[in-house]
Amino acid sequence: MNQPPEPMGVLVVDDEPRIRDGLNRVLKPMGYRVFTAARGREALELMAQQNVAIVVLDLQLPDVSGMEVLRAIKQDYPRVVVIIITGFGTVQTAAEAMRNGAYDLLPKPFEPDQLRIAIHRAREKMQLEKEAERLQQEKLQTLADLFLEKSRLHTIVNALPIGVMVTDHQGQAVLINPTFKRYMALPEDMAEGQALALYINDEALRSLIMEFSQGCHMGPEDSPTYEFSIGPDKFLFARGRPVLGESGECLGAVVTIVDITAMKVLDRLKREFVAKVSHELRSPLSTIHEQLAVVLSDLVGQVSPADEHLLSRAKEKTQGLIALIGDLLDLSRIESGAFSEAPKFVHMDELLENIIAFLGTRAASKHQSITLQRPAGALPPLKADPLALESIFGNLITNAINYTPDQGRIEIHLRTNETHLEVQVRDNGLGIDARHMEKIFERFYRVKNEHTRYITGTGLGLPIVKGLVEAMGGSIGVQSQPGQGSTFTVRLPLAADSNSLGGKTEG
Ligand code: ADP
Repeated sequence: MNQPPEPMGVLVVDDEPRIRDGLNRVLKPMGYRVFTAARGREALELMAQQNVAIVVLDLQLPDVSGMEVLRAIKQDYPRVVVIIITGFGTVQTAAEAMRNGAYDLLPKPFEPDQLRIAIHRAREKMQLEKEAERLQQEKLQTLADLFLEKSRLHTIVNALPIGVMVTDHQGQAVLINPTFKRYMALPEDMAEGQALALYINDEALRSLIMEFSQGCHMGPEDSPTYEFSIGPDKFLFARGRPVLGESGECLGAVVTIVDITAMKVLDRLKREFVAKVSHELRSPLSTIHEQLAVVLSDLVGQVSPADEHLLSRAKEKTQGLIALIGDLLDLSRIESGAFSEAPKFVHMDELLENIIAFLGTRAASKHQSITLQRPAGALPPLKADPLALESIFGNLITNAINYTPDQGRIEIHLRTNETHLEVQVRDNGLGIDARHMEKIFERFYRVKNEHTRYITGTGLGLPIVKGLVEAMGGSIGVQSQPGQGSTFTVRLPLAADSNSLGGKTEG
């Protein structure tokens, strides 16, 4: 149970019993615990023993002077409020008492109400002092907390194993942690507060940070990233986010940089491994395939139809494996940048006509029509690797044939403008559900449903197409409606000088 608060102690120091009694009678009903002393020493002893908050002190005492008692009290108990009562209320005594720390002075004789008012004021003063002290404590605590928080944050940001740069909305660097400086090869003691160009040489990274700082990428999904390398062996990855103010305005940006060298090395090793294994498997598999073909043709009519079926299946499967290995090798060549032959001027209409002629038999076997629509007149030639172009459009047209049912329609549309050449491969086949649309360009991704179940493939065709198109500086997109068909659109940049050449001579 909570104890009621102890009443406040008031000490009355006066050698006149009449005054002591009188004051006692006034103060007790006010709820104070009253102590009395007739002498100075007695008063100081009481102070040491009791919890006294207010002292009413006569200046005329028989042993020590009231002024000395006042000084002693203020020295040992600075918070205690002292009210002087005196019959010799001169201005001089009043001034001295105040100098020695008295709070108030009541000249004798005084009315009980005067005493009550003086005591009330003393209490108020004490409460105000207490409140001021509490506020001061709070302020000090807040400052200490802030300081602690700041130094904590500072320590954390400095110890982060990722690079951090904070910019203001003008793109000036306001914070750079040591990892960032290390990644950017900046001196350890380089100070913040300067323009971005002083810290970052890479122009693309600089303009990305500037865009973040000025609030160009505020959307939750709008977060472009940037991969770059420093020297031949260090690969870094930067991403940023805007720093928003209270009303959502952009105050600057936080940019982080991570080291992705290990990931890159792993990726390279993986690619090398796949390329090596594929390479090693290709010759024995081709041999098995050829030998199976020989065995099959030698054994026609000599083995049971069931055995012949088994052998043909084995031959088909080895053919599938050889195709897969071919695709894997193509992919690894594209990724290592070694696929492209020296570019030549290619007439795209002729190249497409050749592919259509080559794949036409397959389309005909499914009773599909396959047509090329092209603008009239001479087209500007495209400067590119013809083998790569054959692989791109061979894959797209083969897919159109494969994923379109019998009697289907496949249309190839060729267009050009000043800067680009565009080829669309359209079919009215199975189409692709929106949720697969992004993924079909990933390696080994194949849409699995009851329509595609019996269509064989490796899931490597579109990644190869995308890799080749991008290596040529072009882009590929797809639009599709399930059950209605698909349109793959490839855009390739024309060589800057191809128009002037007008397809006359090459080189
Ligand atoms: P593959 O054809 O060997 O499976 P691709 O990488 O060429 O591999 O294609 C990936 C997947 O994309 C295919 O499995 C198929 O589901 C889908 N796809 C590609 N082209 C078309 C198309 N023209 N119509 C419908 N689906 C397609």
